[in-house]
Amino acid sequence: MTDRRFSVAIDGPSGAGKSTIARAVAARFGFIYVDTGAIYRTVGLAARRAGADPYSARAVEPLLPGLSIRFDYGADGTQRMYLNGEDVSRAIRTPEISMYASAVSAIPAVRAYLMDMQRDAAGRSSVVMDGRDIGTVVLPQADLKIFLTASAEARAGRRLAELKAKGDPSTFDEVLADMVRRDEQDTTRAAAPLRAAADAVAVDTSDMTLDESVERVCALVRERMEAVR
Ligand code: C5P
Repeated sequence: MTDRRFSVAIDGPSGAGKSTIARAVAARFGFIYVDTGAIYRTVGLAARRAGADPYSARAVEPLLPGLSIRFDYGADGTQRMYLNGEDVSRAIRTPEISMYASAVSAIPAVRAYLMDMQRDAAGRSSVVMDGRDIGTVVLPQADLKIFLTASAEARAGRRLAELKAKGDPSTFDEVLADMVRRDEQDTTRAAAPLRAAADAVAVDTSDMTLDESVERVCALVRERMEAVR
């Protein structure tokens, strides 16, 4: 491997395991992991706190110039999000804010506002970046693009386990319904809808363990690094 920067874009619907897999793969190769969903969640939280209708561009757009959003990494490598200086890393992880994030992310001005922050991160070092439009819009020149999927049931089951571990009382049916609604919003919006880039490698994790999924993606990264060096 030369010291050229290497970028991996991982897109897919919610609950496909993107963030867990992306974090593990980044750690394996010593790359930075950028969770772009957390950035949209932070805007969603800001809209919620301002009492703005997250579906209304007219309500959300005027908030943007007054926001300060940034992220850094904790000692254990986890990405921490800051909204106007406050660490909101936990506050953005509720089902309500998932829906707010999905709603505000359909607003083109929000996507434009967050674009430089995402591209800057990839310009500084080798990255694994996950989201919905990384391979299609944010990093169209990524060295490797992966579209990670899993059945809705598998995804809802995993998301439920994560929420339960945090003491969230949601049921399987609620989590599944939220997920289906959010996927619908994310795939049908006009601005940067969720879809696989033409040159993305599809990985379906429905019947894979987490370890198997990580190994599969690591194998793809190694292969591509060999090819581009
Ligand atoms: O990945 P996560 O579930 O945290 O993302 C929350 C929401 O943010 C998604 O449902 C999606 O609407 C939005 N998002 C996006 N583009 C990205 C990442 C997330 O629109 N690159």
